[in-house]
Amino acid sequence: MGKSVAFLGLGAMGHPMACNLSKAGYEVKVWNRTASRAEEFAAACGGEAVGLEEAAGAAVIFSCMPTSSEVEELVSRTFEHLSRGAVWVDCTSGDPQTSRRIASRLAEAGVEFLDAPVSGGTDGAAAGTLTFMVGGSEAAFEQVKPVLEAMGKKIVHVGPVGSGHALKAVNNTLLAVNLWAAGEGLAALVKQGVDPRVALEVINASSGRSNATENLIPQRVVTRAWPNTFKLGLLAKDVGIGMKVLDGADLPAPLLRLTHEVYQMARREVGPDADHAEALKLIERWAGVEIA
Ligand code: NDP
Repeated sequence: MGKSVAFLGLGAMGHPMACNLSKAGYEVKVWNRTASRAEEFAAACGGEAVGLEEAAGAAVIFSCMPTSSEVEELVSRTFEHLSRGAVWVDCTSGDPQTSRRIASRLAEAGVEFLDAPVSGGTDGAAAGTLTFMVGGSEAAFEQVKPVLEAMGKKIVHVGPVGSGHALKAVNNTLLAVNLWAAGEGLAALVKQGVDPRVALEVINASSGRSNATENLIPQRVVTRAWPNTFKLGLLAKDVGIGMKVLDGADLPAPLLRLTHEVYQMARREVGPDADHAEALKLIERWAGVEIA
């Protein structure tokens, strides 16, 4: 411990992540664009709501923004106030190219950059059991790993700057494939007169199972509970980053590219602020049945 820690962005993920840092004994300085959320955080979790300039002076700075563009903007706004030797750990599901640009800008100020996106959702963030996939130098990774352990269970250094974001984009593209594919299959089964609960019981004891069939669809779609924890617009953004990763590899990848089209359509039809599982409402509309 002993390091000063700051957290920028107290959204659905940032808030519980920063809260776990505070619970682990770090004196966390928090900043959020909507300042009232930072005040609420300090009241609920401890820590101190501060201005952006003060947060920028910390030894370890976390950011958790919707996209890399907001992170790049924050780097510009804080540049003059950064401390040499600090590490900026970006937990945004961002894009590798922007991250490499941010890393070289930060290097001019003597600050290391790690892209450290997470998986595990808001439940994993609250429980401190997130998976971190980290890109950047091994030395910076080792330096901040103990801090990450307050928020995550599996913490893996995956390669140079940008590789954490690339891996996260591929992971979430797979999530998108599995969710949509399971939705299509289940809608067809419902039309055949199969109860989706029975179908899921069988699939989840068989080879077609995935996180979508084991967790997302039973808990969100079949129940009609539709909790909103991860926006469809953010998943569509991640699949878009996945496409850039494919472009960089010069790979046709027809299935993953089709998934991108599908999620662009779902985002348009269902709305970017709906939960990602609500993409299946479009399949239900087409099929004229509910997966329930
Ligand atoms: P939210 O929409 O809940 O939170 C976004 C945060 O970014 C808020 O603190 C918001 O501030 C801030 N913000 C937005 N725009 C700006 C801006 N221009 N300048 C400064 N701050 C800004 O998103 P999530 O917490 O769900 O997601 C954050 C990241 O984590 C995304 O990249 C997402 O893909 C990823 N992620 C999300 C998961 C989930 O289950 N939700 C799971 C894993 C990764 P304000 O309060 O002012 O709006």
